[in-house]
Amino acid sequence: MAVAWEAAEVPSPALLALNEPLARELGLDPAWLRGDGLGFLVGSGVRGVAQAYAGHQFGGYSPRLGDGRALLLGEIDAGGQVRDLHLKGSGRTPFARGGDGLAAVGPMLREYVISEAMYALGVPTTRSLAVVATGATVHRETPLPGAVLARVAASHLRVGSFQYARNTGDLDLLRRLADHAIARHYPGLDYLEFYRAVVRKQAALIAQWMHIGFIHGVMNTDNMTISGETIDYGPCAFMEAYDPATVYSSIDHCGRYAYGNQPGIGQWNLARLAEALLPLFDADEDQAVKKAVAVLEEFEGLYLAAWHEGMRAKLGGVGDEQLVQDLLKLLHENHVDYTSFFHHLTRGNPRDLVLDLAGADEWLARWRELGPDTAAMAEVNPVYVPRNHLVEEALAAATGGDLGPFERLLDAVRRPYEQREGLDHYAEPAPRDFSESYRTFCGT
Ligand code: AMP
Ligand code: MG
Repeated sequence: MAVAWEAAEVPSPALLALNEPLARELGLDPAWLRGDGLGFLVGSGVRGVAQAYAGHQFGGYSPRLGDGRALLLGEIDAGGQVRDLHLKGSGRTPFARGGDGLAAVGPMLREYVISEAMYALGVPTTRSLAVVATGATVHRETPLPGAVLARVAASHLRVGSFQYARNTGDLDLLRRLADHAIARHYPGLDYLEFYRAVVRKQAALIAQWMHIGFIHGVMNTDNMTISGETIDYGPCAFMEAYDPATVYSSIDHCGRYAYGNQPGIGQWNLARLAEALLPLFDADEDQAVKKAVAVLEEFEGLYLAAWHEGMRAKLGGVGDEQLVQDLLKLLHENHVDYTSFFHHLTRGNPRDLVLDLAGADEWLARWRELGPDTAAMAEVNPVYVPRNHLVEEALAAATGGDLGPFERLLDAVRRPYEQREGLDHYAEPAPRDFSESYRTFCGT
Protein backbone atom coordinates (compact mmCIF):
# COMPACT_ATOMS: atom_id res chain seq x y z
CA MET A 1 0.00 0.00 0.00
CA ALA A 2 3.00 2.31 0.22
CA VAL A 3 6.52 2.74 -1.06
CA ALA A 4 9.28 4.40 0.98
CA TRP A 5 10.28 7.57 -0.82
CA GLU A 6 11.87 10.97 -0.48
CA ALA A 7 10.91 14.36 -1.84
CA ALA A 8 12.88 15.83 -4.72
CA GLU A 9 15.46 18.36 -3.73
CA VAL A 10 14.23 21.95 -3.79
CA PRO A 11 16.85 24.31 -5.25
CA SER A 12 15.85 27.54 -3.53
CA PRO A 13 12.81 27.31 -1.27
CA ALA A 14 10.89 30.50 -0.50
CA LEU A 15 7.88 30.54 1.80
CA LEU A 16 4.73 31.92 0.13
CA ALA A 17 2.15 31.08 2.77
CA LEU A 18 2.31 29.68 6.29
CA ASN A 19 -0.72 28.76 8.35
CA GLU A 20 0.52 29.85 11.77
CA PRO A 21 -2.54 28.87 13.81
CA LEU A 22 -2.48 25.40 12.27
CA ALA A 23 1.27 25.09 12.83
CA ARG A 24 0.80 25.88 16.51
CA GLU A 25 -2.08 23.41 16.74
CA LEU A 26 0.32 20.75 15.48
CA GLY A 27 3.00 21.71 17.97
CA LEU A 28 5.26 23.25 15.29
CA ASP A 29 6.94 26.57 15.97
CA PRO A 30 6.05 29.06 13.20
CA ALA A 31 9.28 31.01 13.72
CA TRP A 32 11.30 27.81 13.19
CA LEU A 33 9.30 26.91 10.08
CA ARG A 34 10.02 30.35 8.63
CA GLY A 35 13.72 29.97 9.31
CA ASP A 36 15.79 26.83 9.88
CA GLY A 37 12.69 24.64 9.56
CA LEU A 38 11.82 25.68 6.01
CA GLY A 39 13.38 22.51 4.61
CA PHE A 40 10.98 20.48 6.75
CA LEU A 41 8.07 21.95 4.77
CA VAL A 42 9.47 20.53 1.53
CA GLY A 43 10.46 17.19 3.05
CA SER A 44 14.19 17.77 3.01
CA GLY A 45 15.96 14.83 4.63
CA VAL A 46 12.71 13.07 5.51
CA ARG A 47 12.02 9.50 4.45
CA GLY A 48 8.28 9.31 3.84
CA VAL A 49 6.00 7.09 1.78
CA ALA A 50 4.09 7.41 -1.47
CA GLN A 51 0.74 5.71 -1.00
CA ALA A 52 -0.90 3.36 -3.48
CA TYR A 53 -4.52 3.68 -4.47
CA ALA A 54 -6.79 2.90 -7.38
CA GLY A 55 -9.84 4.83 -8.49
CA HIS A 56 -12.74 5.36 -10.81
CA GLN A 57 -11.93 8.50 -12.76
CA PHE A 58 -15.01 9.88 -14.49
CA GLY A 59 -16.52 6.43 -14.13
CA GLY A 60 -13.62 4.48 -15.66
CA TYR A 61 -11.55 2.27 -13.39
CA SER A 62 -7.78 2.79 -13.06
CA PRO A 63 -6.25 -0.04 -11.05
CA ARG A 64 -3.13 1.93 -10.14
CA LEU A 65 -3.05 5.65 -9.42
CA GLY A 66 -1.31 6.44 -6.15
CA ASP A 67 0.69 9.44 -4.98
CA GLY A 68 2.34 10.35 -8.28
CA ARG A 69 3.54 13.72 -7.07
CA ALA A 70 2.77 13.54 -3.38
CA LEU A 71 4.37 12.15 -0.27
CA LEU A 72 3.19 11.26 3.19
CA LEU A 73 5.93 12.70 5.41
CA GLY A 74 4.56 11.26 8.61
CA GLU A 75 1.94 11.49 11.27
CA ILE A 76 1.68 14.14 13.96
CA ASP A 77 -0.07 13.35 17.20
CA ALA A 78 -1.50 16.69 18.30
CA GLY A 79 -3.38 16.30 21.55
CA GLY A 80 -4.39 12.71 20.89
CA GLN A 81 -5.57 13.35 17.34
CA VAL A 82 -3.28 11.77 14.77
CA ARG A 83 -2.94 13.70 11.54
CA ASP A 84 -1.08 13.12 8.30
CA LEU A 85 1.49 15.61 7.14
CA HIS A 86 1.58 15.33 3.38
CA LEU A 87 3.31 17.09 0.49
CA LYS A 88 1.99 17.77 -2.97
CA GLY A 89 4.28 18.69 -5.86
CA SER A 90 7.27 17.04 -4.20
CA GLY A 91 8.62 15.21 -7.23
CA ARG A 92 8.02 12.02 -9.20
CA THR A 93 7.34 8.81 -7.32
CA PRO A 94 6.99 5.24 -8.59
CA PHE A 95 3.28 6.10 -9.12
CA ALA A 96 3.97 9.07 -11.37
CA ARG A 97 3.08 7.35 -14.66
CA GLY A 98 3.61 10.09 -17.28
CA GLY A 99 3.60 13.06 -14.91
CA ASP A 100 6.50 15.25 -13.91
CA GLY A 101 5.66 15.01 -10.20
CA LEU A 102 5.56 18.78 -9.87
CA ALA A 103 3.02 21.49 -9.11
CA ALA A 104 2.81 25.18 -9.94
CA VAL A 105 2.41 28.08 -7.52
CA GLY A 106 -1.12 28.95 -8.72
CA PRO A 107 -2.82 25.58 -8.13
CA MET A 108 -1.09 25.09 -4.77
CA LEU A 109 -2.17 28.51 -3.50
CA ARG A 110 -5.61 27.68 -4.85
CA GLU A 111 -5.82 24.59 -2.66
CA TYR A 112 -4.50 26.67 0.23
CA VAL A 113 -7.11 29.44 0.01
CA ILE A 114 -10.09 27.26 -0.84
CA SER A 115 -9.39 24.63 1.82
CA GLU A 116 -8.94 27.40 4.41
CA ALA A 117 -12.24 28.94 3.29
CA MET A 118 -13.95 25.56 3.63
CA TYR A 119 -12.51 25.15 7.13
CA ALA A 120 -13.76 28.60 8.13
CA LEU A 121 -17.17 27.78 6.68
CA GLY A 122 -17.32 24.78 9.03
CA VAL A 123 -16.92 22.08 6.38
CA PRO A 124 -14.74 19.03 7.18
CA THR A 125 -11.62 19.35 5.06
CA THR A 126 -7.92 18.67 4.79
CA ARG A 127 -6.00 21.80 5.72
CA SER A 128 -3.10 23.66 4.23
CA LEU A 129 -0.05 24.25 6.36
CA ALA A 130 2.21 25.98 3.87
CA VAL A 131 3.06 26.69 0.26
CA VAL A 132 6.74 26.94 -0.57
CA ALA A 133 7.96 28.16 -3.95
CA THR A 134 10.68 25.83 -5.21
CA GLY A 135 12.56 28.23 -7.45
CA ALA A 136 12.24 25.71 -10.31
CA THR A 137 10.14 26.11 -13.44
CA VAL A 138 7.21 23.80 -14.14
CA HIS A 139 6.20 23.32 -17.75
CA ARG A 140 2.47 23.39 -18.44
CA GLU A 141 0.86 25.27 -21.34
CA THR A 142 3.34 27.95 -20.34
CA PRO A 143 6.40 27.87 -18.06
CA LEU A 144 5.26 28.48 -14.46
CA PRO A 145 6.96 28.91 -11.10
CA GLY A 146 6.91 25.64 -9.13
CA ALA A 147 5.69 25.10 -5.56
CA VAL A 148 5.14 22.46 -2.91
CA LEU A 149 2.03 22.38 -0.73
CA ALA A 150 2.22 20.95 2.78
CA ARG A 151 -1.18 19.76 3.89
CA VAL A 152 -2.66 18.10 6.91
CA ALA A 153 -5.43 15.49 6.91
CA ALA A 154 -7.15 13.16 9.34
CA SER A 155 -5.72 10.57 6.96
CA HIS A 156 -5.26 10.05 3.25
CA LEU A 157 -7.28 6.85 3.14
CA ARG A 158 -9.64 7.04 0.21
CA VAL A 159 -12.32 4.90 -1.37
CA GLY A 160 -9.60 4.21 -3.94
CA SER A 161 -7.27 2.84 -1.23
CA PHE A 162 -9.79 0.08 -0.57
CA GLN A 163 -10.32 -0.54 -4.26
CA TYR A 164 -6.58 -0.99 -4.62
CA ALA A 165 -6.33 -3.38 -1.66
CA ARG A 166 -9.28 -5.44 -2.89
CA ASN A 167 -7.85 -5.58 -6.38
CA THR A 168 -4.65 -7.25 -5.12
CA GLY A 169 -6.81 -10.28 -4.25
CA ASP A 170 -5.11 -10.39 -0.86
CA LEU A 171 -7.97 -10.50 1.62
CA ASP A 172 -5.65 -10.27 4.57
CA LEU A 173 -4.34 -6.95 3.21
CA LEU A 174 -7.89 -5.69 2.77
CA ARG A 175 -8.74 -6.70 6.32
CA ARG A 176 -5.64 -5.03 7.72
CA LEU A 177 -6.39 -1.84 5.84
CA ALA A 178 -9.95 -1.82 7.17
CA ASP A 179 -8.70 -2.51 10.70
CA HIS A 180 -6.30 0.41 10.37
CA ALA A 181 -9.03 2.76 9.10
CA ILE A 182 -11.39 1.67 11.88
CA ALA A 183 -8.76 2.15 14.58
CA ARG A 184 -7.92 5.57 13.23
CA HIS A 185 -11.35 6.96 12.42
CA TYR A 186 -14.13 4.81 13.81
CA PRO A 187 -12.76 2.90 16.80
CA GLY A 188 -14.71 -0.13 17.95
CA LEU A 189 -16.92 -0.56 14.89
CA ASP A 190 -17.29 -3.79 12.97
CA TYR A 191 -16.81 -3.78 9.19
CA LEU A 192 -20.41 -3.14 8.25
CA GLU A 193 -20.79 -0.42 10.88
CA PHE A 194 -17.56 1.09 9.58
CA TYR A 195 -19.05 1.21 6.12
CA ARG A 196 -22.24 2.78 7.51
CA ALA A 197 -20.15 5.41 9.31
CA VAL A 198 -18.46 6.41 6.04
CA VAL A 199 -21.86 6.57 4.31
CA ARG A 200 -23.13 8.88 7.07
CA LYS A 201 -20.08 11.12 6.99
CA GLN A 202 -20.20 11.51 3.24
CA ALA A 203 -23.95 12.19 3.19
CA ALA A 204 -23.43 14.96 5.74
CA LEU A 205 -20.38 16.33 3.95
CA ILE A 206 -22.00 16.56 0.54
CA ALA A 207 -25.07 18.22 2.07
CA GLN A 208 -22.74 20.88 3.46
CA TRP A 209 -21.17 21.38 0.05
CA MET A 210 -24.61 21.92 -1.42
CA HIS A 211 -25.54 24.47 1.25
CA ILE A 212 -22.59 26.71 0.43
CA GLY A 213 -22.63 26.14 -3.33
CA PHE A 214 -19.35 24.25 -3.45
CA ILE A 215 -18.60 22.19 -6.55
CA HIS A 216 -15.76 19.73 -6.00
CA GLY A 217 -15.28 19.23 -9.71
CA VAL A 218 -13.52 15.87 -9.69
CA MET A 219 -15.32 13.45 -7.39
CA ASN A 220 -13.38 10.41 -8.54
CA THR A 221 -13.27 7.57 -6.01
CA ASP A 222 -9.61 8.38 -5.32
CA ASN A 223 -10.70 11.85 -4.25
CA MET A 224 -13.23 10.68 -1.64
CA THR A 225 -11.91 10.16 1.87
CA ILE A 226 -12.84 7.54 4.45
CA SER A 227 -12.61 10.20 7.18
CA GLY A 228 -15.31 12.37 5.59
CA GLU A 229 -12.99 15.30 4.91
CA THR A 230 -13.10 17.16 1.61
CA ILE A 231 -9.87 16.40 -0.24
CA ASP A 232 -8.00 17.38 -3.41
CA TYR A 233 -8.89 20.88 -4.44
CA GLY A 234 -8.31 20.78 -8.16
CA PRO A 235 -10.91 22.21 -10.52
CA CYS A 236 -13.28 23.03 -7.64
CA ALA A 237 -15.26 26.27 -7.57
CA PHE A 238 -18.09 28.03 -5.83
CA MET A 239 -21.30 28.28 -7.81
CA GLU A 240 -22.23 31.76 -8.95
CA ALA A 241 -25.79 31.95 -10.38
CA TYR A 242 -27.89 29.12 -8.97
CA ASP A 243 -28.15 26.28 -11.47
CA PRO A 244 -27.91 22.57 -10.61
CA ALA A 245 -26.22 21.94 -13.99
CA THR A 246 -23.27 24.21 -13.15
CA VAL A 247 -19.90 22.76 -14.17
CA TYR A 248 -16.68 24.75 -14.24
CA SER A 249 -14.12 22.03 -14.86
CA SER A 250 -12.64 22.09 -18.34
CA ILE A 251 -12.37 18.29 -18.44
CA ASP A 252 -15.90 17.51 -17.21
CA HIS A 253 -17.46 17.51 -20.68
CA CYS A 254 -20.58 15.55 -19.74
CA GLY A 255 -21.26 17.35 -16.49
CA ARG A 256 -20.77 14.17 -14.45
CA TYR A 257 -19.61 16.26 -11.48
CA ALA A 258 -22.07 19.15 -11.90
CA TYR A 259 -23.30 20.84 -8.71
CA GLY A 260 -26.63 19.03 -8.70
CA ASN A 261 -25.09 15.61 -9.40
CA GLN A 262 -22.85 15.59 -6.35
CA PRO A 263 -25.16 13.63 -4.01
CA GLY A 264 -25.80 10.96 -6.65
CA ILE A 265 -22.10 10.67 -7.42
CA GLY A 266 -21.36 10.43 -3.69
CA GLN A 267 -23.67 7.45 -3.46
CA TRP A 268 -22.17 5.92 -6.61
CA ASN A 269 -18.69 6.18 -5.08
CA LEU A 270 -19.94 4.61 -1.87
CA ALA A 271 -21.28 1.69 -3.90
CA ARG A 272 -17.73 1.20 -5.20
CA LEU A 273 -16.49 1.23 -1.59
CA ALA A 274 -19.05 -1.45 -0.69
CA GLU A 275 -17.86 -3.61 -3.58
CA ALA A 276 -14.31 -3.36 -2.30
CA LEU A 277 -15.30 -4.23 1.27
CA LEU A 278 -17.75 -7.00 0.37
CA PRO A 279 -15.70 -10.01 1.57
CA LEU A 280 -15.49 -8.39 5.02
CA PHE A 281 -19.26 -8.12 5.41
CA ASP A 282 -20.08 -11.80 5.11
CA ALA A 283 -18.37 -14.97 3.91
CA ASP A 284 -21.45 -15.65 1.82
CA GLU A 285 -21.44 -13.29 -1.14
CA ASP A 286 -25.23 -12.97 -1.48
CA GLN A 287 -25.51 -12.14 2.19
CA ALA A 288 -22.68 -9.63 1.92
CA VAL A 289 -24.38 -7.90 -1.01
CA LYS A 290 -27.69 -7.74 0.87
CA LYS A 291 -26.04 -6.15 3.88
CA ALA A 292 -24.14 -3.64 1.78
CA VAL A 293 -27.16 -2.61 -0.25
CA ALA A 294 -29.24 -2.05 2.89
CA VAL A 295 -26.60 0.37 4.22
CA LEU A 296 -26.03 2.08 0.88
CA GLU A 297 -29.76 2.70 0.58
CA GLU A 298 -29.63 4.74 3.79
CA PHE A 299 -27.57 7.34 1.95
CA GLU A 300 -30.46 9.10 0.24
CA GLY A 301 -32.51 9.55 3.41
CA LEU A 302 -29.48 10.71 5.38
CA TYR A 303 -28.48 13.13 2.67
CA LEU A 304 -31.96 14.59 2.22
CA ALA A 305 -32.47 15.01 5.96
CA ALA A 306 -29.11 16.79 6.32
CA TRP A 307 -29.72 18.88 3.24
CA HIS A 308 -33.17 19.97 4.29
CA GLU A 309 -32.07 20.77 7.82
CA GLY A 310 -29.29 22.97 6.45
CA MET A 311 -31.62 24.73 4.01
CA ARG A 312 -34.01 25.47 6.86
CA ALA A 313 -31.12 26.93 8.82
CA LYS A 314 -30.26 29.14 5.84
CA LEU A 315 -33.86 30.37 5.93
CA GLY A 316 -33.77 31.15 9.64
CA GLY A 317 -35.18 27.86 10.96
CA VAL A 318 -38.33 27.94 8.86
CA GLY A 319 -39.54 26.55 5.56
CA ASP A 320 -40.98 23.28 4.38
CA GLU A 321 -39.83 21.40 1.31
CA GLN A 322 -42.19 23.40 -0.92
CA LEU A 323 -40.87 26.79 0.21
CA VAL A 324 -37.30 25.67 -0.41
CA GLN A 325 -38.08 24.22 -3.84
CA ASP A 326 -40.00 27.35 -4.86
CA LEU A 327 -37.05 29.50 -3.85
CA LEU A 328 -34.56 27.41 -5.80
CA LYS A 329 -36.80 27.58 -8.85
CA LEU A 330 -36.98 31.36 -8.51
CA LEU A 331 -33.18 31.63 -8.17
CA HIS A 332 -32.62 29.33 -11.12
CA GLU A 333 -35.05 31.07 -13.47
CA ASN A 334 -33.65 34.49 -12.59
CA HIS A 335 -29.94 33.53 -12.65
CA VAL A 336 -29.53 34.84 -9.11
CA ASP A 337 -26.10 34.64 -7.49
CA TYR A 338 -26.47 31.92 -4.85
CA THR A 339 -24.21 33.32 -2.12
CA SER A 340 -25.43 36.88 -2.59
CA PHE A 341 -29.07 35.90 -2.32
CA PHE A 342 -28.72 34.30 1.10
CA HIS A 343 -26.37 37.06 2.27
CA HIS A 344 -28.90 39.74 1.29
CA LEU A 345 -31.79 37.72 2.71
CA THR A 346 -29.93 37.65 6.02
CA ARG A 347 -28.64 41.18 6.24
CA GLY A 348 -30.74 43.27 3.91
CA ASN A 349 -33.24 42.63 1.17
CA PRO A 350 -32.59 40.34 -1.78
CA ARG A 351 -35.53 41.65 -3.80
CA ASP A 352 -33.38 43.62 -6.25
CA LEU A 353 -31.36 40.54 -7.13
CA VAL A 354 -34.39 38.91 -8.71
CA LEU A 355 -35.68 40.10 -12.08
CA ASP A 356 -39.11 38.63 -11.46
CA LEU A 357 -40.05 41.15 -8.77
CA ALA A 358 -43.59 39.86 -8.36
CA GLY A 359 -42.27 36.32 -7.87
CA ALA A 360 -39.70 37.57 -5.37
CA ASP A 361 -42.30 39.56 -3.40
CA GLU A 362 -44.65 36.61 -3.27
CA TRP A 363 -41.93 34.26 -2.00
CA LEU A 364 -40.55 36.80 0.49
CA ALA A 365 -44.02 37.41 1.92
CA ARG A 366 -44.56 33.68 2.49
CA TRP A 367 -41.15 33.42 4.12
CA ARG A 368 -41.55 36.48 6.40
CA GLU A 369 -44.93 35.19 7.53
CA LEU A 370 -43.12 32.25 9.13
CA GLY A 371 -41.05 34.52 11.42
CA PRO A 372 -37.47 33.58 10.44
CA ASP A 373 -34.66 34.10 12.93
CA THR A 374 -32.31 36.38 10.97
CA ALA A 375 -29.68 36.51 13.72
CA ALA A 376 -29.26 32.74 13.44
CA MET A 377 -29.10 33.04 9.65
CA ALA A 378 -25.98 35.18 9.91
CA GLU A 379 -24.16 32.18 11.35
CA VAL A 380 -24.84 29.95 8.35
CA ASN A 381 -25.06 32.27 5.34
CA PRO A 382 -21.57 33.48 4.43
CA VAL A 383 -20.81 37.01 3.29
CA TYR A 384 -17.51 35.96 1.74
CA VAL A 385 -16.68 32.84 -0.22
CA PRO A 386 -13.65 32.50 -2.49
CA ARG A 387 -15.37 33.81 -5.58
CA ASN A 388 -13.96 32.54 -8.85
CA HIS A 389 -12.94 35.88 -10.29
CA LEU A 390 -11.20 36.87 -7.04
CA VAL A 391 -9.37 33.56 -6.83
CA GLU A 392 -8.13 33.90 -10.40
CA GLU A 393 -7.07 37.50 -9.84
CA ALA A 394 -5.18 36.55 -6.67
CA LEU A 395 -3.44 33.57 -8.27
CA ALA A 396 -2.41 35.50 -11.37
CA ALA A 397 -0.87 38.19 -9.17
CA ALA A 398 0.87 35.60 -6.99
CA THR A 399 2.28 33.82 -10.04
CA GLY A 400 3.71 37.19 -11.08
CA GLY A 401 5.25 37.66 -7.64
CA ASP A 402 2.64 39.84 -5.88
CA LEU A 403 1.09 38.03 -2.91
CA GLY A 404 -1.02 41.03 -1.81
CA PRO A 405 -4.32 40.04 -3.46
CA PHE A 406 -3.94 36.43 -2.25
CA GLU A 407 -3.37 37.55 1.33
CA ARG A 408 -6.33 39.92 1.27
CA LEU A 409 -8.62 37.26 -0.17
CA LEU A 410 -7.43 34.77 2.44
CA ASP A 411 -8.16 37.28 5.18
CA ALA A 412 -11.72 37.81 3.87
CA VAL A 413 -12.64 34.14 3.53
CA ARG A 414 -11.16 33.18 6.88
CA ARG A 415 -13.99 35.05 8.62
CA PRO A 416 -16.78 34.28 6.16
CA TYR A 417 -19.76 35.04 8.36
CA GLU A 418 -18.62 38.42 9.62
CA GLN A 419 -19.43 41.44 7.46
CA ARG A 420 -16.50 43.83 7.65
CA GLU A 421 -15.80 47.40 6.55
CA GLY A 422 -13.90 47.77 3.31
CA LEU A 423 -14.53 44.23 2.07
CA ASP A 424 -17.62 44.90 -0.11
CA HIS A 425 -15.66 43.94 -3.18
CA TYR A 426 -15.32 40.39 -1.83
CA ALA A 427 -19.08 40.01 -1.39
CA GLU A 428 -19.97 40.98 -4.93
CA PRO A 429 -20.68 38.58 -7.79
CA ALA A 430 -18.36 38.30 -10.74
CA PRO A 431 -19.02 40.45 -13.78
CA ARG A 432 -21.29 38.52 -16.13
CA ASP A 433 -18.80 38.24 -18.99
CA PHE A 434 -16.41 36.55 -16.56
CA SER A 435 -18.96 34.03 -15.35
CA GLU A 436 -20.14 32.99 -18.77
CA SER A 437 -16.74 31.73 -19.88
CA TYR A 438 -15.23 30.66 -16.57
CA ARG A 439 -13.40 27.31 -16.62
CA THR A 440 -11.25 25.59 -14.02
CA PHE A 441 -8.39 23.21 -14.64
CA CYS A 442 -7.13 20.14 -12.85
CA GLY A 443 -4.10 21.99 -11.63
CA THR A 444 -1.69 19.35 -12.78
P1 AMP B 1 -5.54 14.42 -8.84
O1 AMP B 1 -6.18 14.92 -10.07
O2 AMP B 1 -4.65 15.40 -8.15
O3 AMP B 1 -6.50 13.76 -7.92
O4 AMP B 1 -4.53 13.29 -9.35
C1 AMP B 1 -4.91 12.10 -10.01
C2 AMP B 1 -3.71 11.20 -10.15
O5 AMP B 1 -2.76 11.78 -11.03
C3 AMP B 1 -2.97 10.93 -8.86
O6 AMP B 1 -2.50 9.60 -8.92
C4 AMP B 1 -1.84 11.92 -8.91
O7 AMP B 1 -0.75 11.54 -8.12
C5 AMP B 1 -1.49 11.93 -10.38
N1 AMP B 1 -0.87 13.18 -10.83
C6 AMP B 1 -1.46 14.38 -11.02
N2 AMP B 1 -0.59 15.30 -11.45
C7 AMP B 1 0.62 14.70 -11.52
C8 AMP B 1 1.94 15.12 -11.92
N3 AMP B 1 2.19 16.37 -12.30
N4 AMP B 1 2.92 14.20 -11.84
C9 AMP B 1 2.68 12.95 -11.45
N5 AMP B 1 1.49 12.48 -11.09
C10 AMP B 1 0.46 13.34 -11.12
MG1 MG C 1 -6.47 13.17 -6.13
